[in-house]
Amino acid sequence: MASLRLENRNALITGGASGIGRATALRFAEEGANVAVADRNLKAAEEVAAEVARLGRKALATAVDVSEEPQVDAMVARTVAELGGVDILVAAAGVSHARYGERNDHPMPLVEKPLGDWRKVLAINLDGVFLCDRAAAREMIKAGRGGRIINISSAAARIPLPGSGEYSVSKAGVWMLTRVLALELAQHRITVNTIGPGFIKTPMTAPVQRSEGFAKRLIERVPLGIMGEASDVANSALFLACDEGRYYTGSILHPDGGVVMQ
Ligand code: NAP
Repeated sequence: MASLRLENRNALITGGASGIGRATALRFAEEGANVAVADRNLKAAEEVAAEVARLGRKALATAVDVSEEPQVDAMVARTVAELGGVDILVAAAGVSHARYGERNDHPMPLVEKPLGDWRKVLAINLDGVFLCDRAAAREMIKAGRGGRIINISSAAARIPLPGSGEYSVSKAGVWMLTRVLALELAQHRITVNTIGPGFIKTPMTAPVQRSEGFAKRLIERVPLGIMGEASDVANSALFLACDEGRYYTGSILHPDGGVVMQ
């Protein structure tokens, strides 16, 4: 039997309770990793952690708001205390717009955007990734074993989305954050990469999927003609986390059905 690709590694996954983060937590556990599942929804994170434990790995669920510095530092400290270290961080927590829970198929041009909406998305999608990367990198440097940091950005880092300006800006910011960190952390054998998914079936895109006209228009822009699955992104993360991905740093991978090349 082939050996597992993440045997004895400890992974911390934000946004791990849902969608891409959840799929990544389970994929990593299948490959032997112990997993800390961090999310603002603790109950759902606990359910994912229970699935990880059923796969025979150490699992931990932790509540965090990634935009809150003390909570992020506490999340990393708890992961180190309970799993024994952080070898891999996947920063997947994010929101598509500020008024989460409301319909998000009504784009709002930037000229109409309230500053509060702008700040809320940037605080989670960009400040949150910075805080998680920084806290995990500090532990990785202290442990001296190298590490892998994988930030989930979006195809929107390259493609301006009218009506979701703050989302595109936050994801472009994650892409540059990734490259600066990749240069700064290379000396510590910590690789830093980003994944820029296209249109993926998750709870985040559920309102868009339900809006038939909107979904049709989006899928028409995908050369492969279908939406992606959360597992497509999880497999990209697995590649960057395991030995096969060791020579990648500062890169962006696009599981996107071809959207970005157009
Ligand atoms: P999802 O199913 O909504 O999962 C995101 C998870 O992150 C949710 O559990 C969410 O909780 C949590 N979260 C949000 N804000 C948080 C915060 N401040 N602190 C801690 N947890 C927080 O969405 P997804 O589609 O898997 O998205 C995962 C990542 O992929 C996001 O960064 C997203 O921007 C990116 N992405 C998604 C797609 C796509 O098509 N789905 C495409 C490109 C990029 P709530 O449910 O309470 O918000």
